[in-house]
Amino acid sequence: MLSKCANPDCHEALHYLRAGKVFKVEFDGPVLVTGKKPIRKVEHFWLCGPCSETQTLTYDQIHGVRVLQKPPMVRRAAAS
Ligand SMILES: [Zn+2]
Repeated sequence: MLSKCANPDCHEALHYLRAGKVFKVEFDGPVLVTGKKPIRKVEHFWLCGPCSETQTLTYDQIHGVRVLQKPPMVRRAAAS
């Protein structure tokens, strides 16, 4: 649900979408079939501005949706 920041440690309520980042997660696995078109389950998650700068969302079938710390900025290795 897009009502608050996806970071469980953050209680920022969703007021303005542009203040953060919205992640669209497509769930693999059983799909709903209505008529002939299979529908993949899609959910949206939101990280508030401060959280989206340091964290990101990931999804896998084992752990589900998780908030991960972004890897620290990798400095480009200068070719020498
Ligand atoms: Zn947050």
